[in-house]
Amino acid sequence: MTGKRGIKILTELLDLSGVKVISHRLYVGIGMILQVEQEKSFSTCPRCGTTSHKLHQNHRYIIKDLPFGEKEVFLEINRRQFKCEQCKKPFSENLDFVKKKRTYTKRLANKTIQEVLENDILSVASKGIVTKDEIERMLKDASEELPNLKPINLKRLGIDEIALKKGHGNYCAVLVDLDQGKLVTILSGRTQEIIKQTFVEWGTEILGNIEKVSIDLWNGYKKIVTELMPNAQVVADRFHVMAQINKELDTQKKEKNAKDKI
Ligand SMILES: [Zn+2]
Repeated sequence: MTGKRGIKILTELLDLSGVKVISHRLYVGIGMILQVEQEKSFSTCPRCGTTSHKLHQNHRYIIKDLPFGEKEVFLEINRRQFKCEQCKKPFSENLDFVKKKRTYTKRLANKTIQEVLENDILSVASKGIVTKDEIERMLKDASEELPNLKPINLKRLGIDEIALKKGHGNYCAVLVDLDQGKLVTILSGRTQEIIKQTFVEWGTEILGNIEKVSIDLWNGYKKIVTELMPNAQVVADRFHVMAQINKELDTQKKEKNAKDKI
């Protein structure tokens, strides 16, 4: 049993606005499950905007949240259904911290996307907190939510690729503002036409301001960059370069081991 004070501390640690912890359970080898509840006892009808206090049904399910130290954290949430007095129809409430039909909190999705941009999908998935399918879903949601705006003050652009479904040839290009560490856009594919079209839409002023473009050395992006960004210097993508260096070192190590055995 967790005392009142313990619950209060857990609520503070969880730090989700408008949400309080009700109870917690620890499972060895799995993690911590926090049962949480919305502080407010009402919701607003999405059809007519009327505030409803009339609870219709409880919908409890478990989602993933950011880990706490080395412990995985799951939230047992309740997406309540209210009945609108005006429309006479039930509606399910909106929760700020989790999208409908998703198995993870918004903040876990944001953190995961940041990690994917710094590493790659497989290495992030191998940590075991989120699955590859969940990461793909997060990226798809993120690309749909990104405002279709032109980048502001873009000086260093990173072009990377993400495999949406490995082995299906379903790749998409990801554009990152390297100075701000921010996702600019996720494109629907990675062909030269798709990328070129996006750049052309940005216009010559934005393209002319780009000073550095970091790309994967082994694809055809360089041609587009040289053609459209007159002031940009093309540099090798640091992750792909690191991977190449690691592979190189690995081969050297293996060769040395082989020699040592002789
Ligand atoms: Zn209504």
